[in-house]
Amino acid sequence: MTADVDASSTTPTRIHADRAAGTLELEWQDGHLTTYIAHDLRWLCPCAFCRGEAGLPGWLDTSPTLTSEQTRLVDVHLVGSYAIAPTWGDGHHTGYYPFRLLRDRCSCPECTIRRAGRPTGSRNAMEGSP
Ligand SMILES: [Zn+2]
Ligand SMILES: [Zn+2]
Repeated sequence: MTADVDASSTTPTRIHADRAAGTLELEWQDGHLTTYIAHDLRWLCPCAFCRGEAGLPGWLDTSPTLTSEQTRLVDVHLVGSYAIAPTWGDGHHTGYYPFRLLRDRCSCPECTIRRAGRPTGSRNAMEGSP
């Protein structure tokens, strides 16, 4: 049963990028709603340039001051059936955000409380249900 729950909680039924408001909304199959502020989403960029690779720190690890262009959501593309790739005002578009990551980092009060209540040492957060 946990597998079903996991799939519906990481499958978006609606993805809406509001360029004017600078937000990204995702509605999930289990009815949950996640809203990202573009600025926060930019900081989550999982690409090799931002996050680093092969043990080397990425650009975001240097705690850069992001310009308004770098955090301006221009467009969002679907990558297969597992991720989205936003395009930013500075032309950056190589970050593929898996749905699983987007759901796991949901910043709504409910999810924030749920994450805070997780037992310490639970490193399987990204793997789904315990
Ligand atoms: Zn990136
Ligand atoms: Zn949430």
